[in-house]
Amino acid sequence: SIVYLNGDFLPVENAKISPLDRGFLFGDGIYEVIPSYDGKMVGVNGHLKRMLNGLTEIGINVDKSIADWVSLCEKLCELNHYGALGIYIHISRGTDTKRHHAYPEGITPTIFMMTFEIPVPSLPDSKTAKGYSLISTEDLRWQRCHIKSTALLGNVMHYQQGHEAKCNETLLYNNKLELTEASSSNVYIVKDGVVITPPLDNQILPGITRDILLAILREDGSIKIEERVVTLEEAKNADEIWISSSSKEIAPVTLLDGNIVGDGKVGEVWQKAATLYSKNKFNY
Ligand code: PLP
Repeated sequence: SIVYLNGDFLPVENAKISPLDRGFLFGDGIYEVIPSYDGKMVGVNGHLKRMLNGLTEIGINVDKSIADWVSLCEKLCELNHYGALGIYIHISRGTDTKRHHAYPEGITPTIFMMTFEIPVPSLPDSKTAKGYSLISTEDLRWQRCHIKSTALLGNVMHYQQGHEAKCNETLLYNNKLELTEASSSNVYIVKDGVVITPPLDNQILPGITRDILLAILREDGSIKIEERVVTLEEAKNADEIWISSSSKEIAPVTLLDGNIVGDGKVGEVWQKAATLYSKNKFNY
């Protein structure tokens, strides 16, 4: 595949980064993943704005406009022959001359981009859709989860817990037994027809899929939404649970800690919401 590194497009085998890069030594960087289907990106502005917010928050300055980023993304998709692609952007603080915690002055950020294949979304069908299984565990990551940091060990360790339990994802709750998100997805429950999702704060990543889904549901108006604290207890008694991310879109969950969710089938509200998402996502 063709990747982008610091101004050049080149085969991945030829892309080389110094071991003194702070992305490697400290996980000192921001990343982003933008879904693209046959060259049409979903939520590109939202993704890029979140990335720029993250860079500002950690004090990395990159001299590129949103339009510059969009054209790099478009070019990379073209060079990788389109299809269903996740566009991965990784910006680290750059390469230092020694290993030292303080932000070095006058170094240039390292910019790396690649694409990887993502599933081709099929039209949501509750009869054939695969129900996800989750385990739940206490969220032991850091307190700045709104930053899409390349330092993902906390998320990786939680994901692995689910994987080892033969589940698809790990649902996380804080020490007050309130849901935060999953290790690589946002979370929603449905109770009595109302979609409820935890509010944006430092405990969760402001997911772009979440943002687009909520905008679409508000626009449509037929499904009630609440952004508020959701307890683990509420999740256990929910009629439906969903998780969302750029690559899986809106995924229905049918098992939580080995127990069926609702009636154990992929839910009706999911069918409706996921259909609205798939019909309208390219408008965002
Ligand atoms: N939460 C976490 C921790 C994530 O890593 C991700 C994406 O990978 C999400 C939520 C979903 O975000 P998005 O919808 O922008 O892909």
